[in-house]
Amino acid sequence: MTQSPTDDAFGTNSPAYFDASDAGALQTLLSTILASVPDAMIVIDESGRIVAFSAAAEAMFGYQAEDVRGKNVSCLMTDADRPHHDEYIGTYLKTGRRRIIGIGRVVKARLADNREIPVDLKIGEAKIGEHRLFTGYIRDLSEQQRAEHRLREMQAELTNFSRLSVVGTMASAMAHELNQPLTAVANYLEASRDLLQTPDENSVAMAQDALDGAAKQSVRAGRIIRRLRDYVSRGEISTRVVSLPPLVADAVMLAQSGPKAHARIIKALDPNLPDVMADPVQIQQVLVNLIRNADEAIGPRPNTAIEIRIHSRTDAEIVVEVADNGPGLPADREHLFRPFSSTKEMGMGFGLAICQTIVEAHGGEIWARENSPHGAVFGFTLPLAPPNTQT
Ligand code: ADP
Repeated sequence: MTQSPTDDAFGTNSPAYFDASDAGALQTLLSTILASVPDAMIVIDESGRIVAFSAAAEAMFGYQAEDVRGKNVSCLMTDADRPHHDEYIGTYLKTGRRRIIGIGRVVKARLADNREIPVDLKIGEAKIGEHRLFTGYIRDLSEQQRAEHRLREMQAELTNFSRLSVVGTMASAMAHELNQPLTAVANYLEASRDLLQTPDENSVAMAQDALDGAAKQSVRAGRIIRRLRDYVSRGEISTRVVSLPPLVADAVMLAQSGPKAHARIIKALDPNLPDVMADPVQIQQVLVNLIRNADEAIGPRPNTAIEIRIHSRTDAEIVVEVADNGPGLPADREHLFRPFSSTKEMGMGFGLAICQTIVEAHGGEIWARENSPHGAVFGFTLPLAPPNTQT
């Protein structure tokens, strides 16, 4: 079919004054497109050489079009991508197998000042006779990624804040409620000491009464602590069918957003992991606590790793383990899960107690053991969701 001047890329509606066979008119059109296309646009030939470079590409990359025209497009790529680019084009031309053309991909671009930025790259293809041109449209994702990163940080801060505020509220409530029995214990003991300075039958009997009072107040203090501990979980667990992999991914992200995050985190999740019945926020809290504890125990040493392993144990429960290659459990491991049991200078010793309360409220159990060859493993169980609710 012969092309009439109007039967071109614009279809039959192209304006009569535009003649697509006029090289000058086409050149003007191309220049206008290159000057005004909002995304960075780069046209390359089949050997990878840059044929056209839009004004937006100049602004993004910091090169003038004449600096890069004729050069291989790999000069805009990172060291990781550069050696493979010619091969990609070659493979595509030979096999027709598309890895990026028409699909689009997020890649890294290298700017004139050597900075590397994340970009969204879309590629279109044009055939001119036997030859082909490839047009890349590139959008800078740095701002979007910065905003996403900030959002994740804010979410992490919020979760951390609410965790601190739960602990803070609990600690101040405890301090307030414990103050009274502890003051009474101190008063009874001081009175007994004074009474026993000049012991006679009467003062010994009074000292015995005072010591009795001190013992009763200590028991009361213990009851307050237990009540507060129960309070943390009472009525707050609301379980539903939960898939663990996304929950683990979020917990890892939150745990790593803390100031100390040093260790590499490896996830060893059974690919056919069944769903569990859990309160996702609470179980995420348990995982974040265990991962942060592991990270703090390991500290900034080389080759550190935390492994999160999840597997089914029976057809009713699943085991979640957080294993590290740190120094291992402290000698006094009997009391790990008790409140105020901490080996850290600033530790409150609440973390594991809260984890235990949450896991037990789910009907599971929690434990700690030594890892092999060194390190610690904290594990807990969760009930599986009923078979008819599995996704
Ligand atoms: P805190 O973090 O405030 O000390 P926790 O209840 O979370 O309170 O932890 C109690 C103690 O358990 C820690 O002080 C530490 O001695 C020990 N511990 C917890 N996790 C680990 C671990 N992965 N490796 C070694 N010790 C640990």
